[in-house]
Amino acid sequence: MTKRIVIVGAGIAGLAAARGAADSARGSDIEILLLESSPTVGGKAKTIRRGGWLLEAGPTGYLDSEPLMDTLVKAAGLTKIAADDAAARRFLVRNGRLKEIKASPPAFLTSGILSPLGVMRIATELFRKKLSDPSGNTVDESVWDFAARRLGPQAADRLIAPMVLGVFAGDAKRTSLPAAFPRMAELERDYGSLIKALVALKTERGRESGGPAGPSGKLTSFAAGLEELPRALAERGQAAGDFQVRTSTRVHSLGHDGLRWHLAVEHAESGLQSIEADAVILATEPHIAARLVKEDAPDIAAELTAIPMPPVAVVGLGYGPKALAKAPRGFGALIQRGGGLRILGVLWDTHLFPERSPDGTILMRCMIGGATDTASGDLSDQELVAITKHDLAKLHQLGSEEPCFTEVIRYGHAIPQYEVGHLNRVRRIREHLKGLNEVTPGLSLAGNYLDGVAFAKSAKVGYEAGKMRAEELLVRKADVLG
Ligand SMILES: Cc1cc2nc3c(=O)[nH]c(=O)nc-3n(C[C@H](O)[C@H](O)[C@H](O)COP(=O)(O)OP(=O)(O)OC[C@H]3O[C@@H](n4cnc5c(N)ncnc54)[C@H](O)[C@@H]3O)c2cc1C
Repeated sequence: MTKRIVIVGAGIAGLAAARGAADSARGSDIEILLLESSPTVGGKAKTIRRGGWLLEAGPTGYLDSEPLMDTLVKAAGLTKIAADDAAARRFLVRNGRLKEIKASPPAFLTSGILSPLGVMRIATELFRKKLSDPSGNTVDESVWDFAARRLGPQAADRLIAPMVLGVFAGDAKRTSLPAAFPRMAELERDYGSLIKALVALKTERGRESGGPAGPSGKLTSFAAGLEELPRALAERGQAAGDFQVRTSTRVHSLGHDGLRWHLAVEHAESGLQSIEADAVILATEPHIAARLVKEDAPDIAAELTAIPMPPVAVVGLGYGPKALAKAPRGFGALIQRGGGLRILGVLWDTHLFPERSPDGTILMRCMIGGATDTASGDLSDQELVAITKHDLAKLHQLGSEEPCFTEVIRYGHAIPQYEVGHLNRVRRIREHLKGLNEVTPGLSLAGNYLDGVAFAKSAKVGYEAGKMRAEELLVRKADVLG
């Protein structure tokens, strides 16, 4: 009678799924098994520690506005830390020069980021009609089209396109507004104008960072880096007997025999093995999930394969006191294309979490690649470092100063691109999955290609999938007994 849930992938989505399943299955004999192909858990949330340096290979942190994150932090027995107040200061590089993006509208409008004509065009936003389909629903348009329509093409090019590059490594002309920035779409729908929304929301509480159109919440991590959360979730979950985690275990295939799911897995040392399951949660990147479901659900596999995930390299460079003095105290800078720089943006990690580099030094982290620079996937590590050194030297006038710390992390598939049509694609995936579950019950998908690319969003999708699968198995068991 023992039922088993197998979760494939121990990134934050998979670990949250294991936690969600264990929370719902408490007191039952449902077995929960998490399989991870890498030797360690965490997926993209990986922290590199060397000497006095602490470099995040993937996410810098998460926004604490998602309540589930506190549940996970508590389950992991950790204490979270908030980024320094300097994180509120954001910069933009225009024509090779750093300009602060001021939060107050008058200061922003006079900051020189936009020309006087560009500023005047923004002022007319108040009178622009909102765009909706005949039923009053938001239209799925690109972020660039939305910004150009409401704020003018100059603001779309100079402000919004660099933001999409910096956050999603994405192309604003292909990224869907309602999928990637649902809040902006809601503000237009509810207030008819972003300026009106800005005024109405000015007094709203709890929005500690991000503009009224951006995500709310404080950038949060842990003293030893973000990897602490998946690592501690795995350790605690196993110690409590809530679930088992097997690392260095790759799932090669998945199939259903009419009664149970069968997974062909390969452990780095013990070799090939077959594992049976009553429910399976695929918490991998979409192209891997596609490979695993292609026999049972070719429709889902085709939709998953169509989600682009271009390559991105993260290059971390550490510099001495001269660079520390030159980098403004702030979160980092977004970069407008066309200014002779190839990096997508820079993060001044030392200013966010000061313990991440030795005293008197600064750690800067840059992304190269993404949707507008897929050729970067062919660059060697040396070339990636050379590009980053060149761009940072130009940006901060570092002259010939050499970095004293260097690290390169490469992702062949980095961040899922929410292109125009993404919401419909996710809707179709969920419909196909529902149909599949009516015939062969027990399959869920989790990951950051469904309801948001951020760490906390992926955790939420995972946790809910885990809960749902455990609750469904409890009902199935009760039906058999009853
Ligand atoms: C460079 C970068 C910067 C980012 N910055 C931020 C940020 O600052 N803030 C933020 O909120 N988000 C950020 N993100 C997004 C964030 O990292 C992700 O949303 C989140 O980590 C995704 O977690 P996941 O569990 O869905 O997927 P992943 O972390 O990709 O986990 C998938 C897991 O599945 C495993 N796996 C794959 N195939 C198999 C198989 N066949 N068998 C077994 N296991 C398998 C993988 O090894 C991996 O561990 C960033 C992402 C990148 C790439």
